[in-house]
Amino acid sequence: MKYILLLAVVLGTLWLMRTLRKPKLPPQPGATPPPAPALPEDMVSCTQCGMHLPRSEALPGRGGVFCSEAHRGAFESQRGN
Ligand SMILES: [Zn+2]
Repeated sequence: MKYILLLAVVLGTLWLMRTLRKPKLPPQPGATPPPAPALPEDMVSCTQCGMHLPRSEALPGRGGVFCSEAHRGAFESQRGN
């Protein structure tokens, strides 16, 4: 009789654990979503030095795109005069 009671307690505990574990919590509404994978971006090369950089970071200028303000200025002053 003692063992039956013990078995019932063990089975009850296991059932309780399964029941409590089952409902999977949905992601928290306030939680930040996982970062989106970086999209491949067009690469351009600086007209002055040839360094490759994403188009969004390139500085457009007369005669091409540049990696920095300095190179744009240098290129335009070389050409302009
Ligand atoms: Zn450059």
